[in-house]
Amino acid sequence: MKIARIDLYAVELPYSGGIYRLSSGRTYTGFDASIVCVTSDTGLEGWGESTPFGSTYIAAHGAGARAGIVEIAPHLLGRDPRAVDRINDAMDEALVGHNHAKAAIDIACWDLFGKSVDMPVCELLGGSTGQPLPTISSIYAGTPDDMRARVAKHRAKGYMGHSIKIGASEAEGGPQLDAERIAASLADRQPGEFFLVDANGGLTPETALRMLRLLPAGLDFVLEAPCASWRETKSLRARCNVPIMIDELAQQDADIAMIAAGDLADGIGLKISKAGGLTHARRHRDICRAAGLTMTVQDTVGSAIAFAGIIHMGATVPTSLLRCVLDTRDMVAVETADIDAPVRDGGVLPPRAPGLGINVQQEVLGDPVASWAV
Ligand SMILES: [Mg+2]
Repeated sequence: MKIARIDLYAVELPYSGGIYRLSSGRTYTGFDASIVCVTSDTGLEGWGESTPFGSTYIAAHGAGARAGIVEIAPHLLGRDPRAVDRINDAMDEALVGHNHAKAAIDIACWDLFGKSVDMPVCELLGGSTGQPLPTISSIYAGTPDDMRARVAKHRAKGYMGHSIKIGASEAEGGPQLDAERIAASLADRQPGEFFLVDANGGLTPETALRMLRLLPAGLDFVLEAPCASWRETKSLRARCNVPIMIDELAQQDADIAMIAAGDLADGIGLKISKAGGLTHARRHRDICRAAGLTMTVQDTVGSAIAFAGIIHMGATVPTSLLRCVLDTRDMVAVETADIDAPVRDGGVLPPRAPGLGINVQQEVLGDPVASWAV
């Protein structure tokens, strides 16, 4: 099997909840998705998506993802899409870095691989645990009462995990406001619920330690991405007793190896496009498993195509290490694909159809913005 054609689409995904607010005054009202269709010489199609969280989350943005794909795509024509490691080698030879550009192509190759052997992607990635995957809400930063209400709303919808966004500047209320946001968000905690307190790199060791001292004792949460740099994260970790997960800083394979070797965290946010696709995400999963690091399997954001990648990968993480998956579909107001992902016992199961198990709604995508063919 060979890659005969690659089509690239650009789709605007409006945020479904109005204005999303992160630390350092960052706001988002929509997301710029890059969607790729890889067609083989047998006529099979594979789909993949890469949707950065705006241009101020990590070093990624929508136009950049497409510019990267323009560099890479001509080098992939004629190659076997099922040899996913070799496809990634070819992408690295064509363009250094730019994980977010490579992710959409890599995911599309896995979809094609699964369809070619009539198996779901999760089975090719090692096999599904068969357990429903608990989903996590994304509670953007707001007033403590508002955040408590939004946690309750998501709890009522069946979410077992909640990602609580913090990182108030001194002018906004600083560590005191963040401590109140955490206490309010956890006030109605139910048995079995998992809370991530995510600063998206918006704290310094000083503000993080002040915030933690202001909290009532006994709150059960994990602190995610407290600081923007490795040095600050390492300093904070040595001086606090709260479990720490790393997200934005964990991008390359070597980052995950360093976290494990240096005991820099207790877990990672494994985001498919941040990692560069399912091939690298698989490697991150295995390093984490070997090191006993917990994982949330997510993407930066995205539509149903990105969600399919998330749940196929999430389904292969041992239950004891998987905290939750992100249902990106809930965050955007556009449906790019139908996906048969049943919800059962507080969690979601991956589709059983071959490949990603999605039916892409091509009329939603419009015309390709670029195409390459042999
Ligand atoms: Mg995060």
